[in-house]
Amino acid sequence: MSQHTALVTGGNRGIGLEVCRQLGRLGHRVLLGSRSESAASRAVADCRKAGLDVRAVTLDVTRPDDIQAARSFADEQFGGVDILVNNAAILLSENTSILEMTRDELVATFETNFYAQAAMCQAFVPGMMSRRYGRVVNVSSQAGQLAGMGTYAPAYSMSKTALNALTRILAETTRKSGVLVNCVNPGWVRTDMGGAHAPRSVEQGADTIVWAATLPANGPTGAFLSDRKRIEW
Ligand code: NAP
Repeated sequence: MSQHTALVTGGNRGIGLEVCRQLGRLGHRVLLGSRSESAASRAVADCRKAGLDVRAVTLDVTRPDDIQAARSFADEQFGGVDILVNNAAILLSENTSILEMTRDELVATFETNFYAQAAMCQAFVPGMMSRRYGRVVNVSSQAGQLAGMGTYAPAYSMSKTALNALTRILAETTRKSGVLVNCVNPGWVRTDMGGAHAPRSVEQGADTIVWAATLPANGPTGAFLSDRKRIEW
């Protein structure tokens, strides 16, 4: 298998860090995106101790300057990014009713979970299309699935539904260009976000993300995936 350059946002902890490890173990060069330099250094040191080709990239996904700097770094050093994992996200006001949610909570959630992912795709996907190879994985959630939508975490849930729509539109835009774009529900995972009582390990949560990040040319595009299978929207 050829080595690709992967960029993982929010790679310093949780599911993102495990995605970095698993992509590294598959032999890929991993750019571990983190908004905190110190958190990135610690995570990268751990990965490198295990012999993985993982490097830190300072990247707050809500900062356009950081996104442009990450793109320039990847272009100049490695000829671009082949695999983009949009993993970074925030979960605010999990138990607030949609009738009480503030505009600030809604805006902050969409800034990180949706506008930033759109900006990341705009920065990295054109290069993938011109090189005729790319894999984009938008880390979504069952909370964003319209089919089962309830009252849980309204701002977060709606931001993930919007991310799913972005996935569909981008998949059509890139069809037949060598770029595959999918979104993945990792399930309920034991991380800072998922909490200690979640049933899944980070290894299980990262599995389908890494699978979608390394699909063969005839793999799916524009799909919502969970446990390596399509699920409904
Ligand atoms: P987590 O432990 O809370 O980690 C979130 C990561 O996102 C951290 O690295 C955090 O960085 C980063 N982040 C947040 N805002 C950022 C920003 N503006 N710029 C760059 N990085 C930023 O969450 P997780 O459980 O690993 O979740 C990873 C993904 O899986 C998310 O997309 C989440 O919605 C999804 N997901 C998780 C679960 C679950 O049960 N855990 C379920 C469904 C979906 P800092 O360390 O700097 O804060």
